[in-house]
Order: sequence, then C-alpha cells, then structure tokens
Amino acid sequence: MIRDPEHEKMSRKQLEKLQLERLQARVKDVYEKVPFYRRVFKGKGVTPDDIKTMADLKKLPFTSKIDFRDNYPYGLMTVPLEKVVRIHSSSGTTGKPIIAPYTEADVDMWSEVMARTLASAGMTRHDVMQNAYGYGLFTGGLGFHYGCERLGATVIPTGGGNTKRQILLMQDLGTTVITCTPTYALILNETAKEMGVDLRETKLRLGIHGAEPWSEQMRKDIEERIGISAINVYGLTEVIGPGVSVECEHKNGMHIWEDHFLVEIINPATGEQLPYGQEGELVITTLTKEAQPVIRFRTRDITKLIPETCKCGRTMVRMARITGRSDDMLVVRGVNVFPSQIENVLLEVEGVEPHYLIVVDRHDAFSTEDLEIWVEVSEAVFSDEMQKMEKLEKKLRAEMDSVLGISARIKLVEPRTIARTEGKARRVVDRKDLKNSGLITK
Ligand code: ADP
Ligand code: ZN
Repeated sequence: MIRDPEHEKMSRKQLEKLQLERLQARVKDVYEKVPFYRRVFKGKGVTPDDIKTMADLKKLPFTSKIDFRDNYPYGLMTVPLEKVVRIHSSSGTTGKPIIAPYTEADVDMWSEVMARTLASAGMTRHDVMQNAYGYGLFTGGLGFHYGCERLGATVIPTGGGNTKRQILLMQDLGTTVITCTPTYALILNETAKEMGVDLRETKLRLGIHGAEPWSEQMRKDIEERIGISAINVYGLTEVIGPGVSVECEHKNGMHIWEDHFLVEIINPATGEQLPYGQEGELVITTLTKEAQPVIRFRTRDITKLIPETCKCGRTMVRMARITGRSDDMLVVRGVNVFPSQIENVLLEVEGVEPHYLIVVDRHDAFSTEDLEIWVEVSEAVFSDEMQKMEKLEKKLRAEMDSVLGISARIKLVEPRTIARTEGKARRVVDRKDLKNSGLITK
C-alpha cells in the first residue's frame, strides 16, 4: 500500500524543486551553526549561496565516519541539547561508536518514514508485528517500533534474543510479521524446528529484514524455510536509522524516500559522481533532519541506483541490493570479491546450510593470498558417506572458480560449528584471530 502518494508518486520535477529548497535550507543551517561545516566548506571555497541548482551539490565537501568521531559527541549538532529528546548510537560493527541525536520533529519524521517503509513492505494496520531488532542504543528496535505504532498495527517489542520465548509468543499472539536481521530469521527457524514447530504453519506471512548485507539466495532460503515473503530494508545510524529505503512487493530494488534523503553514487576512489545504473559508493544528504543533519555522507555501502518508475507506481529512485561495505571487500590474489557474492554462490548449491565463515590470511586491509570457506552442511549430508562430501566440496570449489573467478578451499563442517548471532553476522575472520573470535563453537 502507498501511504503517502503525494510524496511517493511525486513527479521528478516537483521532487527536485522540493529537494533543492530543502537542501538550501540545510546547507545554510549547518554553515551558520556548526564550526566543522563552516571550516570544510571554506576549505572547498564554497558558501551556501553557491547552491543554486541540484547540480551544485557536487561542490559541497563529503563527510565520513571519521568526522563523526572527530566531533564526538555533540560537535555536529545544529540545535542546543535542550531540543534533543533522544540519542542513539551505532552498533559499532566497524570501529568506535558514533551518536545520533533526535529532536521531537526528527522522531516524528522518522516514525513517518518508517510507517511508509512498513506499508511499502506490505504491512497494514491489521498486522501483528514481532519486532526482534535490538532495542536500546541500536536504531533498529525503536525505529521499527515507532513506525509500527504510527501505521496503527500491533507491535510486540520482543527485541533480539530469548529465541524460544519468541517462538511461543509468535504462536500464542498470532504474529503475522517478523522484523529482524536475516541472520536472526534463520536462527528463529532453527530454534522453532528444535521445538517441533514448523513456522510455515503459523500465521507468519512477512519478514522485513536488513541491517546487514544478504544475498538473493539467502532471501530464497528464508522464504522457503519459514514460508514468508522476505523484504529488504536499509538504513544507517548516521542518517536516521532504518527507514532510508525499502522494497515494495515487486522486490526489484529498495525505494529511497528521496523527499528526506538525497542520494548520489560516487566512484569511491576519485569521489566523482557516477550516473544512474553504475555501481559505486552511496552518498546521502539528509534534507529534513534537524538535530544532526548530514551533508554528503559517504556510507561506504556499494550499490547502484535504478531510476525507472516501479510497477507499484512509486516514482522515487530505487537502490539495488548492497553488495557490501567498501571496507568488507576482499582482494583474493587480485580479484575483488564481497562476502555477499560468496554467499550467493554457496547457497545455490544443494545440501549447504546458510551458515558460513570466510577465513583469510590478510597481508594488508583487504588482500589475501589464501581463502578458506567454512560451510555448514545439513545433518543428512554430514552423516553420509565420505564420497558425497567430497563431491559437494568439489562442486562448491568449481562454482567459486567459475562464477567469481577465485580459487578457495572449502571446508565442510558439522551443523552448529559456526556460532549464531542475534544481530549482525560477521562473515570474515583472519586465521590468526579465529580461535578467540567467538565465531566458531568448537
Ligand atoms: P554499524 O555501522 O555499526 O553497523 P548501523 O547499525 O548504523 O551501524 O549500520 C548501518 C549499516 O548496516 C549500513 O551502512 C550498511 O552497511 C548495513 N546495512 C543496513 N541495512 C542493510 C541492507 N538491507 N543490506 C545491506 N547492508 C545493510
Ligand atoms: Zn515499487
């Protein structure tokens, strides 16, 4: 369902007019109120008056995670602390945490984009949504929670963990929608099975998953195992949290709420803007956020933009599934590959479980000579004859080579060898850290 057709179906011309007005206001705001922005604007010789058309956007300086750390905690705010009603922080997947302050108007805007997001995913006010994203500092829990209430649906705020109880509640309360990371969706299913519960026989019909990279094969796996439709959702703490973009029922890219979030794709090496359709780093400018607006924030997420109007009627640009974070990229003997590409190849092969770990011997941040992939296989395969295991291993090796052009060693491991996590999965580990990483169970 389209919650806000006036905006979601806006013509490009109208949208760009609105974006420009909002951009000009934001730029003026940060320039006047935040010493950091004034300094970096001056460094590039640009003032708010130089932003006359959308094409002038590229004159503005980029910002990055480093700027958040350098100005920690309150240095990037445009309002006094009295106006802030809430503070979140990033989960710190990569390095030190950063903070995200919200004014009352920000919480309102966030609830609204999240309500739009849930509606686009296929939710209505008749749904019962079990929210297994983490509550607390992480933006996932409260972001989905407020969006659900705004939509008028029912939220069950379980948060992550306590998996058995989640299954019981799901049955008792007639949960129809589950919101959690893709990784946790699989754990819920595994636990349900152990309890003798088949999730396909419950009222569950929809999963809204994100917060970490996942592949199209992983989607298929989740949909088949749990008997739901699985929708991809995207967001990040620096920008707002979840609610930046989401798929519609057509599942062909995530609609970006462009009246609030202005997007560009750049070449991560040169910073140059790239045209629609070309893959590169996603850069986001917030157009309506009050407490801590961001200008040209480099997300480090790799994707491409799809401009054509979607079958659902929404005009807003879509972003393709994120291949990975630029810092997750591996260079295997000269070939660039993201963990999610490896995942896609692995999960296409029958007998493989959606739990894997990539063990590397890095000699700098990215490059590795050696790649070993630990893959869990189903109980049936594992207890079968040696010959079948060898065949599977060979098949996986051949697929890696032919699809990705990398040679990797495959290590088939018993079910539950790879540790389960309630939040975001970590897929890559250096061999020297493997033992103490907590990523394997034995
Ligand atoms: P952290 O940087 O500590 O993980 P966040 O919780 O803000 O903090 O995570 C935001 C990041 O999560 C995004 O920049 C992106 O890399 C990843 N992410 C979020 N949603 C998705 C998604 N649907 N697909 C792939 N990656 C995602
Ligand atoms: Zn659509």
